[in-house]
Amino acid sequence: MTMHVRDDLAVLPELLPERTAPGRVRLHLNELSAGPLPSVMAVIRQATSSVHRYPDPSATELRVRLAQHLDVEPNRIAVGCGSTSLCQQLIEATCGHGDEIITGQPSFEVYRVFARIAGAHPRLVATAGHRLDLDAMASAITRRTRLIFVCNPNNPTGTAVGREALLRFLDVVPPPVMVVLDEAYREFVTDPEVPDGLRLVGDQANLAVLRTFSKAYGLAGLRVGYAVASPEVATALYRVGVPFAVSTVAQSAAIASLDSAGELQARCAGVAAERERVAAELRRAGCAVPPSQANFVWLPLGRRAEQFGEHCERHRILVRTFPREGVRVTIGGADENSAFLAAARSFLDPASAMADPASVDAAGA
Ligand SMILES: *Cc1c(COP(=O)(O)O)cnc(C)c1O
Repeated sequence: MTMHVRDDLAVLPELLPERTAPGRVRLHLNELSAGPLPSVMAVIRQATSSVHRYPDPSATELRVRLAQHLDVEPNRIAVGCGSTSLCQQLIEATCGHGDEIITGQPSFEVYRVFARIAGAHPRLVATAGHRLDLDAMASAITRRTRLIFVCNPNNPTGTAVGREALLRFLDVVPPPVMVVLDEAYREFVTDPEVPDGLRLVGDQANLAVLRTFSKAYGLAGLRVGYAVASPEVATALYRVGVPFAVSTVAQSAAIASLDSAGELQARCAGVAAERERVAAELRRAGCAVPPSQANFVWLPLGRRAEQFGEHCERHRILVRTFPREGVRVTIGGADENSAFLAAARSFLDPASAMADPASVDAAGA
């Protein structure tokens, strides 16, 4: 007899393989390629001297600093081991066996994975024009719905829902159902029509907003994110979380990053400008890239997605392929983006790529 492992877990994806190799351009995980600011690096080095101690389990100083920075009360903030962990904690805190969550398709995959781990059922609602279809998501609510994930901007499509659509949606969601607005890419938003979720949390008891230090702040490797919600939900998140999940190094780096928020904002503006350049070039090469408000673009290549991903890999560029749907490509530094564009052109529009000597150079590098 073999040892028992839950057989319903067999449908879940296995661990992602590490894809890094020397000379590869990493455009597959939406990291900030510029890395942490020098001032933050200095704080990280200093914080390593206390790694023999457990961290502050409630991240008191970070929460106080976040509260000032975001203009919300500290008891509404829960800090977690990346906001991915907070997605799981939100499900654990609200869903029992047989309950349902609603998420977009495609959207951030971990929502449905964590739902399954909790024994809950994920309902996937197709996007419309690569945008989350909030009307259809509202129509999918049943008696068993506990949680709805609205990823804004949406990963992997990059599109964002506007203020009016979101407010209309929040109006029709019944109060016992929690809406999670995942704003992992908020700092890259340039469209003024896209609402800041934190301005809505105070009036809306069933709303939780997720943010992270992994993307704009460039701290993906340190694992720290946060939720802003009602004080009751923030407390519940700590109850279901792993104790000491956020290291002292991560807490210190996050605080130092808040001190440098201005510099980071300038970096995000640079990423947004590159995003528009990359999207425009891809459209010129014949790919219908939807408007992105994040630090990545979506190539809706359908059945050609896997072929495109392999083509990029042969050009030493790592991208994220969603088989039969599309390919998500992170906006990196200008040189990285140009190398990607050269590879993309030689797939999408081989004739024009041949005519452009710069792209041949980059692709052969
Ligand atoms: C990257 C990402 C996160 C957060 O990642 P962490 O590194 O766990 O903080 C959350 N939501 C979405 C949609 C993301 O793309």
